[in-house]
Amino acid sequence: MKLSFYRYDLKLKHPFTIARGSRTLEHVVIVQVEQDNIVGYGEAAPSGRYGETEKSVQAFLSTVDLARFESPFELETISEYMDGLAEGNYSAKAAIDIALHDWIGKKLDIPLYRLWGLDKSKTLITSFTIGIDKPEVIEKKVEEAQEFPILKIKLGGDNDEEIMRTIRKATRKTLRVDANEGWKTKEVALEKIKWLEQEGVEFVEQPMPASDLAGVAWVRERVNLPLVADENCIRLRDIPGLMQAYDGINIKLMKCTGLREAIKMIHSARSCGMKVMVGCMVETSVAITAAAHLSPLIDYADLDGSVLTTNDPFEGVRFDRGKIVLSDLPGLGVKAKD
Ligand code: MG
Repeated sequence: MKLSFYRYDLKLKHPFTIARGSRTLEHVVIVQVEQDNIVGYGEAAPSGRYGETEKSVQAFLSTVDLARFESPFELETISEYMDGLAEGNYSAKAAIDIALHDWIGKKLDIPLYRLWGLDKSKTLITSFTIGIDKPEVIEKKVEEAQEFPILKIKLGGDNDEEIMRTIRKATRKTLRVDANEGWKTKEVALEKIKWLEQEGVEFVEQPMPASDLAGVAWVRERVNLPLVADENCIRLRDIPGLMQAYDGINIKLMKCTGLREAIKMIHSARSCGMKVMVGCMVETSVAITAAAHLSPLIDYADLDGSVLTTNDPFEGVRFDRGKIVLSDLPGLGVKAKD
């Protein structure tokens, strides 16, 4: 097995702002695993929130020796090997896991969803994310999101009320809210969520800092909207501890080290009676398509990461008025654009 990788700079259509900060460019790392003249594609979209950068991804990948394994089918052994190399490095590990899955699908000549026994007509409608912005920009973004029936609204900055007013003036669509840890005390979070209950919101993601799980549990006892853990939910091992505070989890391949662990997390969350969302970072169609193959298994999809960019070098999953459309190409079903 041969591993190679390179950095790619994804450009965003608009500066993207959440409670933590703003950016216009996303550095990702594209990975290729090659054996038997078949190339599997993977991708890392590192997040500073979890201590990763494109440099740390490349540094980790440089320590991975895939030549010691006979074939990409050794998924479990390779995952254990990568976890043994270093803690963290979630997106770097995910990149290899995605590439191995793509390779296996190509080798067997079947799409991933079929390998997993899933029904592709059961893919979900993805939400489209509106970042924190001034009213005139928000109006424009809502207009651009016309074909998407569900919007995910980023709050947790200093103009939550203004943002919701602007959006509700423009549309009656289903809204999901993500505070990205932005409401710093349980009293503020309670007040905000009580207000959002009147605004036709479906659920609230990560209302408070991940460090205050007890605060989230306190809020949950006092509100009617479901609460979904994102920054609080990184890997499989986190799930049991979240039952006391959350109704659901947001799985991202870039946090959980890839598809193999994501599937374990979906079943684990189900056994805990929790809802499951699959989300993304700003990513190319490689990682977005990988996550899209999981969507027949889950409740909520938030997979607009590639739609927010202008120079995606791959084509893969498509969206038909927001509904995820998977192709019948083998593996991920992703092709590099010419
Ligand atoms: Mg989130």
